[in-house]
Formats: sequence, C-alpha cells, structure tokens
Amino acid sequence: MKNYLKQFPNKDGYFGEYGGAFIPPQLEPHFLEIAEAYDRIAGDASYINELRYIRKHFQGRPTPISHARNLSRLIGGGNIYLKREDLNHSGAHKLNHCMGEALLAKHMGKKKLIAETGAGQHGVALATAAAYFDMQCEIHMGEVDIAKEHPNVVRMKLLGAEVVPVGFGGKTLKEAVDSAFMSYLEQGDDAIYAIGSVVGPHPFPKMVRAFQQIVGEEAREQIVEMTGHLPDHAVACVGGGSNAMGLFAGFIEDEAVALHGVEPLGRGTKLGEHAATMTYGKPGQIHGFKCIVLTDENGEPAPVHSIASGLDYPGVGPEHSYLHDIGRVSYGAATDQETLSAFWALSRHEGIIPALESSHAIAYALKLAKRSPGENILVNLSGRGDKDLDYVADNFGYGEELDLMKMLQSAEPEFA
Ligand SMILES: *Cc1c(COP(=O)(O)O)cnc(C)c1O
Repeated sequence: MKNYLKQFPNKDGYFGEYGGAFIPPQLEPHFLEIAEAYDRIAGDASYINELRYIRKHFQGRPTPISHARNLSRLIGGGNIYLKREDLNHSGAHKLNHCMGEALLAKHMGKKKLIAETGAGQHGVALATAAAYFDMQCEIHMGEVDIAKEHPNVVRMKLLGAEVVPVGFGGKTLKEAVDSAFMSYLEQGDDAIYAIGSVVGPHPFPKMVRAFQQIVGEEAREQIVEMTGHLPDHAVACVGGGSNAMGLFAGFIEDEAVALHGVEPLGRGTKLGEHAATMTYGKPGQIHGFKCIVLTDENGEPAPVHSIASGLDYPGVGPEHSYLHDIGRVSYGAATDQETLSAFWALSRHEGIIPALESSHAIAYALKLAKRSPGENILVNLSGRGDKDLDYVADNFGYGEELDLMKMLQSAEPEFA
C-alpha cells in the first residue's frame, strides 16, 4: 500500500471501479469548477497556512488522544485509546471538512454554502463555517431528523443558517441529499454544494478525505508518543465514511495496522432494519457516484434504520467500497443495543458521553479488546453525545452494568 494516498483516487475520481461523477449535464460545469479550483489551491501556501491557522486558533486542534483506562481494565484484554474528535469545535469531526470546503468556496468567490444534513452535525458544522467566513448557508434536513435532533436545528438557526425541511419519502438523510442537489441546480453560480462526507461525485470523496486526514496524521504522532509504537488496530464508525477515512489515512500505508470500519446493524439483519451497507449491499449507483449500495427488490436505494441518524445512509464512500473489496479494511457492524451499551459504558466508566454514531465504533472496539490481550486499539471518537442525551434518556434510560457484560458475552465482532 506504499504511495496509496497519492495513487487513489485516479484523476477521474475512481477507486478501482468505484467513484466517478454521474451528474445531470447542468451540474457538470459546477463540479468541474470545484475540482479545478481545489487542485489549483490545494498546494497553495497561503491556503494551507490559512487552514492551519483556523485549525489551531478556531477549532482547537490538535485534539488529544485519551487512554480509556477504566474500560480497558474492566475488559481485561487490549487497551483502548480514543482520538477525541468530540473536542473539535462544534463537537464532531465534521468541522474539519466544513472549514476546508468553506475556505475553498471563499477562494472561488462564492457567497453561499448549500448542504444536506442527517443528525444535524454536518449542518451545524457548515453553519459554523459559514458564520466564520461571513457567508450565507442553506441546510436541507429530513423532517424525521428535525424532530429527533431539535438542539442541532436550534444551533443552525442561531448560527444564521436557513433550515429547509424535507417532507418526502423517508424524510431522512437520503431525501435531504436529493433536495439539496435540486436547490444547488438553481444556485450553482453563487453557491457551492458542501457534501458532508467522503461521498458524492468526484472531487468530494478525495477532497473530504484530504480535509479529514489531519485526524489520522495527529493520531499517528500522538499514539506513537503515548505508547511507543503504532496501534495494532484502528477503528471508526462508517456512515458515509469521512471520520473513518480521516483516521485510516494516517495508517493505511502501514500494513501492520489492522483497520476496522463499523456500520449500524440497527434492529437486525432484515432489509429496512439496518444500514450495514458493506455486509448486505452490492455495487451500484447513488447520488452521482458508484459504490456499494443497499437496494430494495426494484434496485432502488433501500430504506435504512439506525439509532444514530448520522449513519442511516444506504450508500457508502467509494473509497470504502474499494478498500472492502481489496481487503485492506474489515467492515463489521454494531446493533442499536450494543451501541447503547457502549454509550452508557463510556459515559459511566470514562466520563465521556459519546455521540451514538461514535458509540458504534466503541461497541465494536470493546468486543475487539476482549479478544485481543496486550494489543492497542485506537478508536476515532467522532463526536460528543450532547445531541443524543434526551433521546437516549427518554427512550432507553440510563443503562445498567449488566448491559456491558451482556454485550461482551455475545459473539465476536462480525466481519463482512
Ligand atoms: C455524521 C457523523 C458520523 C458519520 O459520518 P462519517 O462521514 O461516516 O464520518 C459519525 N460520527 C459523528 C459524530 C457524526 O456526526
């Protein structure tokens, strides 16, 4: 995997057979404009320095790594370390790519940022970036998510963004993407569409990975400083796959580091009850790019479920699809129940309340730690759980010690 990051994607945005840009002809010039602008300024010293300044003085980077000492001791296997993206300004890793995208928009002379959001995290991060750069911001959000993620809706409005409710179809992330695309079609001259993950048409999977790569670069240095060597495992949850690609980018060229992506297995293996794309999907197309997709009997993107609305997407980044096929990353899954157990356990035993999205990675890492004595497991704690507090407490309560034990007794991590 030497030089992997330089070689992938190719100039047309392909990772093997996945990726590309399949968009309406009217949108083609806009995506070309973004790709060209990005290639032009990505190596530009003033752009790099500006981004570096923002990360340090606005976002609060570098974020630390914490040793989950109590949980590791309790499990009695491997040691778990957490890359603390929950401490990145606005509470998740998403600000990393939003600041990059907004800075790009500024350099392109655009006045507005348009995007979809699922859990509201991308919307909040983009609204934050828009406020920082004094730009307009339009966020499309499914009505189901608006009801579930009320505090993030309030945040976006406070930050000056316009929140557009999306009321068709499943009223979640997938429909929000469709709605945002339609709005961009009309405003492409003055706006850029800021995609919230390593998904969408070229150049977004490549660009968003580059903006998130800082997570892996920092983590690599920090874990070596803390433990004396590279980790045995790096684990991250996968919705579209941006926090995972950010972490993995720091280790992908080191074959000795096992990489694990964790998807939501929701309420079970039946179609519609989960969003475990890698395990149950097949190659196809969604939202303008090729990837592994969960489809229904008509070949349409399937309805999905996850307790974490940031993960309920029937597609996945093209790069993950490729890394899955070549076997460089193992993809597993965590159920809603396991996720809740991890959410409670990390809160109670480490004093860190994680996002439900991140709790999927924690759940998987806890099981991995149990069967990996003496090994070091680095987990991307992609976001904080403040947005999920009321939802969890009202619907599922506060958890019991038993929940963690039950989860640890259950089967070994499932691999795709
Ligand atoms: C959005 C979100 C995710 C999922 O997005 P990826 O692109 O897969 O990283 C994960 N964790 C948190 C906290 C999120 O907000």
